[in-house]
Amino acid sequence: MSTKKIFKLAYGREHLAIPGPSNIPQRVLQAMNRPAPNIYGKEIEVVTEKVREGISKFANTNGKTVIYVSNGHGVWEAALANLFRPSDKVLLCSTGHFGQSWGIIAKRLRLELTHLDVGFNSIIDPNQIEKILKNDKSKKIKGILAVHTDTSSSSRNKIQEFREAIDVTKHPAILVVDAIASFGCERIEMDPWGVDVLITASQKGLMTPPGLAYCIVNEHAQDYSKTLNNKDEITSPYWDWEPRLNPSRFYDIFSGTAPTNLLFGQLEALNMLIEEGRENVFNRHEILSGMVWACIDHLGSDGGALSLNIKNKKHRSNAVTTIFSKGFDFGKVREWISEQGGVDLGVGIGFSSRELLEGRSVFRIGHMGYLNPHMILGVLSLLEAGLEKENIPFTPGGVNAATELMVKKLRSKKN
Ligand SMILES: *Cc1c(COP(=O)(O)O)cnc(C)c1O
Repeated sequence: MSTKKIFKLAYGREHLAIPGPSNIPQRVLQAMNRPAPNIYGKEIEVVTEKVREGISKFANTNGKTVIYVSNGHGVWEAALANLFRPSDKVLLCSTGHFGQSWGIIAKRLRLELTHLDVGFNSIIDPNQIEKILKNDKSKKIKGILAVHTDTSSSSRNKIQEFREAIDVTKHPAILVVDAIASFGCERIEMDPWGVDVLITASQKGLMTPPGLAYCIVNEHAQDYSKTLNNKDEITSPYWDWEPRLNPSRFYDIFSGTAPTNLLFGQLEALNMLIEEGRENVFNRHEILSGMVWACIDHLGSDGGALSLNIKNKKHRSNAVTTIFSKGFDFGKVREWISEQGGVDLGVGIGFSSRELLEGRSVFRIGHMGYLNPHMILGVLSLLEAGLEKENIPFTPGGVNAATELMVKKLRSKKN
């Protein structure tokens, strides 16, 4: 065995700049680091109730939160299983890979899908929803599925305008929104925006390990799901939210064993969000994402290879950014940054054009959850170093552009 050690600069705390799972705060790790509670005891009941209330409150809704022991894919299925039956028509609005994947689940559940797919570089025009609903004279469309921030493209839809389009046509379709990437990072106002069901999960803006996922269900959606008479057709009793919403005993809330220590972690993360304040959380992510964009715009100027996928600022997510290194394979940069810099960047998903080298010229920066300027500036500095190392053309000064924007934004907040 060789005793020669490989030299690596990346000694210290690793940083995940992938768009989920995100960095877990020490406070959350500490809260989970304790003996498991008795799942038949009072303490776990209290924590569960606090998590449910905390999630609903952060969504700004009077609706109830249902917790599933699952990842995001689980609540994609849960929402559909509780609201629709085979051959029900649904309108899926997709702006990237995650919307498309939700559609695959809907088809497997034998829903009849109308797919409004605008590709990977724009957002849904609510007028198109209005047009489709207007043409649905016999009101056959039962639901509208929309992804708030699609994590592959990093575009963000204007959900409040979706509701306006539904109301203008006086259409009864129920509005179901995937906010898995955006929740805890960017503004979501469930009741004011008229969202009936919002789904999210623990591992992105909610700063907790994967394993908890949430359906937040308003009264209308609760009532509506009760009217679906043939309960037998629900995909599996596990997903049924009725006993979880109205449990006859605590055990029903999770349809089995409670996810003990994860709940302690999630509650601590919610406490942190509440301490910071909702508006401050949104503002922080707005500034941090702005720093990322300023950096990339600068690096890509004057013949630099980098560019942002979403050109219109108002259509961009504050949780994740999708970036192109047109004509250059970014894989080597990513590996070097991980090995020597201790930072993991996200890979591109769903881009397959030749121009983007079948997706190898695409990467993503996750700026979700537990994140401050020194963390994001570290990511951006390493990006600049990696471009230099791999001889990908760029205009130096990207980090400087980010810090300038940070200072400017903080100045304007004071006034
Ligand atoms: C991450 C993500 C999902 C999938 O969640 P998993 O926990 O990986 O199953 C779905 N939708 C969006 C928008 C996401 O960001």
